[in-house]
Amino acid sequence: MKLLHADIVYAEDREHLAIHPDSYIAVEDGIVKGIWRKIPEKFRGIPVTDYGDGVLIPAFSDLHVHAPQYLNRGLEMDLLLEDWLNQCTFPMEEQFADPEFAKLVYDAFLDDMIANGTMHACVYGTIHSEATGYLLESMDRRGMRGFVGKINMDRNAREDLLEAPETAIRETEVFLERYGSNRYTRPILTPRFAPTCTPELIAGIGKLGKKYRVGVQTHLVESRWEAEQARILYPECSCDTEIYERAGLLDNGPVIGGHFIFPTEDDVRILQKHGGYAVQCPDSTISIIAGIMQTGTLLDRGVKVGLGSDISAGHHIGVFTQVARSVQLSKLKQFYEPDGNRKISFAEAFWMATKQSGDLFGGTGSLEPGSVFDALVIDGLSDAARKLTPEQTVERFCYIGTKENIRARYMNGELLER
Ligand SMILES: [Zn+2]
Repeated sequence: MKLLHADIVYAEDREHLAIHPDSYIAVEDGIVKGIWRKIPEKFRGIPVTDYGDGVLIPAFSDLHVHAPQYLNRGLEMDLLLEDWLNQCTFPMEEQFADPEFAKLVYDAFLDDMIANGTMHACVYGTIHSEATGYLLESMDRRGMRGFVGKINMDRNAREDLLEAPETAIRETEVFLERYGSNRYTRPILTPRFAPTCTPELIAGIGKLGKKYRVGVQTHLVESRWEAEQARILYPECSCDTEIYERAGLLDNGPVIGGHFIFPTEDDVRILQKHGGYAVQCPDSTISIIAGIMQTGTLLDRGVKVGLGSDISAGHHIGVFTQVARSVQLSKLKQFYEPDGNRKISFAEAFWMATKQSGDLFGGTGSLEPGSVFDALVIDGLSDAARKLTPEQTVERFCYIGTKENIRARYMNGELLER
């Protein structure tokens, strides 16, 4: 049993933050037992770790991130999607044929992610099984809850990043068998996006999804070009999302649709029906994709929405920064397209990056009793002339904080060494 003292803030629901100033939280076997203003009688005598006026918040979840693009973050940000893929992204991903190079990059990536307060993630590897397997194992070893996918592509990319469909399906099956029973980090099917996958490949991984009861992550209606290509290449489907529905990929586990910026009515209906997540990646949207998700509208229609760093189309690995950017983008969306769009509140954005996404990872993203205790203590954000309230501290952290403002990190109830 652990007892911690701090100001405690988490998302109670979509609209409200739960705020427990100057309170005690008890954690046993990695799970939150309760929060009290005074130490309950039964816990007297247990030593207290006192964080003073530090603010305890849940760790963040990143629902869309490309680990092999880590070395490209903050570079070539003046390109648009197609040029950026061909000049920047695909040449980098080719290097992951070398497992030793991959190890170096993936360990640095995971350490940086945790340092920036992200402890759960849906991660893309590359087509390379060995490198992607190392990424998954390395995440699991750290105790990070998440999903890692070996990418599937069999057309419309550079030769070295394509596999024959039968090879891709066979390698993916081996990947699912090898890593399917890990403790914290599991495989997820990862067709990159419809234009890079033939119907044969999509049908094959659809069968694997059903056989192994495993979910799917992909880029969904990310750009107008992609949405149009999906309709041309899959004429029997009314929209991008239906490609995956028809293949039986939306009923076996988490469904994670990256970006979801240009959905049709059918895309929204299908994603909502299957309980899938649309993932907003604000920095990525600003730099590379040039479109803004209808976040408020999707939330109002019952679609689950999470946030992603989308390294390296996005440049900042800390999802906390994307909470702020998501609010900003919703205002631009409302300003330029007032018809049917609304701005979102800070509480909504914080909820998306914590509690709403945490459902995917077995009860993370909250500090209410029963939650997995993956948490951060933040401080150093007040001014000498103005002491912030706990909720103001959280908001300012998301706007102007850095990893230096994270004073302590807990994963599965254990304090991590700095
Ligand atoms: Zn992406």
